Amino acid sequence: MKIHTKIIIALILGAVFGSVFSIDQNKLSIITTNGESVIQNWNSVKFLKGDSVLKTYDASSQPGIIKYFNSVKDKKLKENIRIEVIYPSGNSEFIEHIKEISKVKTIAVYLKPAGDIFIRMLTMIAVPLVLSSLIVGAASLSDLKHIAKIGGKTLGFYALTAVIAITIGLVCADIIQPGKFMPEENKQRLLETFQEDAQGKIEQGVSLNIIDFLVSIVPKNPFKAMADGDFLQIVFFAILTGIFLSQIKTHKAKVVIDFFDGVSSAMILLVEKIMYIAPFAVFTLISATVAEFGFSILQTLLLYTVTVVLGLAILTFVEYPLLLKLFTKVNVFNFFKAQRQVIAVAFSTSSSAATLPVTMDICEKKLGVPNRIASFVLPLGTTVNMDGTALYQAVAAMFIAQVYGFDLNLSQQLTIVLTAALAAIGTAPVPGIGLIMLIIVLKSVGVPEEGIALIIGVDRILDMCRTVPNVIADSLACVVIASSEGELGEISAE
Ligand code: ASP
Repeated sequence: MKIHTKIIIALILGAVFGSVFSIDQNKLSIITTNGESVIQNWNSVKFLKGDSVLKTYDASSQPGIIKYFNSVKDKKLKENIRIEVIYPSGNSEFIEHIKEISKVKTIAVYLKPAGDIFIRMLTMIAVPLVLSSLIVGAASLSDLKHIAKIGGKTLGFYALTAVIAITIGLVCADIIQPGKFMPEENKQRLLETFQEDAQGKIEQGVSLNIIDFLVSIVPKNPFKAMADGDFLQIVFFAILTGIFLSQIKTHKAKVVIDFFDGVSSAMILLVEKIMYIAPFAVFTLISATVAEFGFSILQTLLLYTVTVVLGLAILTFVEYPLLLKLFTKVNVFNFFKAQRQVIAVAFSTSSSAATLPVTMDICEKKLGVPNRIASFVLPLGTTVNMDGTALYQAVAAMFIAQVYGFDLNLSQQLTIVLTAALAAIGTAPVPGIGLIMLIIVLKSVGVPEEGIALIIGVDRILDMCRTVPNVIADSLACVVIASSEGELGEISAE
């Protein structure tokens, strides 16, 4: 059986396994100084200090209960908090000296470390792979002008796809109006449940300044850039190193280029070996996500989720094929078929950075993109080109605005196009950052940033979905640029 078939089967089995061993949303493990007690199917849970009630939660507030307890920072208060659990029968139970409150884990969650190892191994490879292959690639590009030309085309293409993606998102949100149908009661419940999470993200105080962003592309210390996994800085350093290697004496340059060529080949081989464990890793990642995910929240946010997923589907299956047809002669079906592994890894890891080594391998081996183009276009795209994230940010901003009763006019929607494009550029290629950068988009149109609490509950699942077009767009750019340079080889979909 081919590896991608195994991965797809693992994905489906993982989803089934995760839903069979899903975490009970009406069960909590409470660790006290006297041991563990498990409560379930409560009618309400009250946090008490003495006899005064600090907070009351109802039957469907499992995440709220955990978050409230964790949010109490005052050690003394925490020690004195007790809870009263009231059951549908009217009976109640008191629990005190609480040390920890958590969900009751299942086997699906206990298997997740295997998936985490897979993500860490791919992430481990990404930096040495990008550095070495780009140094070799840049050394083979004849001159700076050539690199500038490819760079210009790449950024132009990325800007084009991002603007179209955001427009798709806005049109979907304008037509479906997902926020108009949210009952006030659901809004209040979501705001309350995810208030602390939202606050934590807002406090990170993200901002975006173009000049600072451009300046920060130049690393002060390339080793720090590598340690931090800052791809833009690594790209900058690697290109300069490659170019100047090609301008020094051949015998000196050759040893260095051979060295990096060796590192790059070893890393690529390592990616291929790591992919052997991909089916099992994908299984554990998907099953843990499904098991941990509270599907009841999906009902509350169904229309919003459908709007984002529909937008992402149009982006992936309409915009990308059209661009592929417009700019290349590549067969659309084969293009997608060749990328099954990339799609599965992006979906299950939610990380463009972890997927990068796989994307690079597939682009070079299956899509016929020469190394000197792939090694440049892909790391750049991983960092700045996030169409899926940009589209998601546009829909999310519109949704939150609609829930709060703001009617965003055309000029405000154009502001969203601009800020979402920039916010996506500033989004790090790792899970969940798109949501934090959304705050910038909300601020730009005056929508309350606390509104991110409304959508946090489904972010994990949407993150998986938006990471897929994020990485496909990078491969697409590689194919388009290589084709425009007349350097695209044969595509092999097998
Ligand atoms: N998870 C996304 C990626 O790695 C980024 C995001 O949208 O949060 O591409």
